[in-house]
Amino acid sequence: MKITEVRAAVPRGTNEPRDWRTAMAQIAVTVETDEGLSGVGVGGGGPSGIHIIDTVLRPVLVGQEIGEDSDQALADIERLWERMYRAILPFGRKGLAYMALSGVDLALWDLVGKRAGQPVYELLGGLRHSEIPVYASIDAVVNDEVERGFKHVKLHLNRHSGDVPESIEAVLVARERVGADVKLYTDMFFRYDLESTLRMADAIFPYGVEWIEEPLSPDDLDGYAELVRRSPIPIAGGEHEYGVHGFREILDRRAHAILQPDASWCGGMTQLRKIYGLAAERGVWVVPHRGAEVWGLHAVAALGDRPLAESGRPWVTWLRGEPPIKDGFVRPSDAPGFGVELDPASVG
Ligand SMILES: [Mg+2]
Repeated sequence: MKITEVRAAVPRGTNEPRDWRTAMAQIAVTVETDEGLSGVGVGGGGPSGIHIIDTVLRPVLVGQEIGEDSDQALADIERLWERMYRAILPFGRKGLAYMALSGVDLALWDLVGKRAGQPVYELLGGLRHSEIPVYASIDAVVNDEVERGFKHVKLHLNRHSGDVPESIEAVLVARERVGADVKLYTDMFFRYDLESTLRMADAIFPYGVEWIEEPLSPDDLDGYAELVRRSPIPIAGGEHEYGVHGFREILDRRAHAILQPDASWCGGMTQLRKIYGLAAERGVWVVPHRGAEVWGLHAVAALGDRPLAESGRPWVTWLRGEPPIKDGFVRPSDAPGFGVELDPASVG
């Protein structure tokens, strides 16, 4: 089948947070073909990402053939990914261009899955985990997560802006509220420095914390490597890293103990599966950013040994078919592709 059109739009949602995401919103990408079949993916970059797709990526794709059988089709996606990557290299080795490319790549995987009548996890080698535990990703205060069945809860401590005593208190309160059986995680959204993170890690270690996420700037790999050596709690990160090249550097420098690539930002499924492969060689755990959304979920279901998914974003209301989280678990649907459809009213 031949690609005839590539469309990207910022869907109208509800209650998007008023931060960088409002301007650099998630974009929905549709790849259309001469057989009437189309694939949908979600990338990032808002109007800037759409501009990159319209002016740089669309001309690479329109007119290209996607092979008949799945093996050929996946080889074609790989070939097209390389061409898109070459096209963005002069200006987009990380960040917005990668976010835009990611949406296109995911739409291609969705297209090939729909063509084959198979979910994307089958294209990745088959379902290994059908019931995937989800961690509730929440702001500091634990409300009803335990009653809703979550056995994993992550606290966002970035609002404390490196204020160590306040963050320690938040972890203490959370542990008291969830009890001893729930696993606790923390996320600092690069608001700390090396010394404050180490003070924090030593202080919260007795409360049982599974990881400290992204305490430093994603560019401070020296700091991360030292943290990994000195912190009593494993260090996680990678949601703001791009491409297999970036993740290989993190692994080579032993800068993270847990990798958290985002399928919609890191280069799509074509890169995410390679990141999983590299991490497996080094014995590093991969827990994709917002992995309960279908784009990461199919990788969690098919790749890796320790399935865990981050709860998705409630303000994404423009996709139909996202599997619900029930009793702290999510189950990927067996519908073809990623199993979701874009609400046409959200982009019309
Ligand atoms: Mg995070």
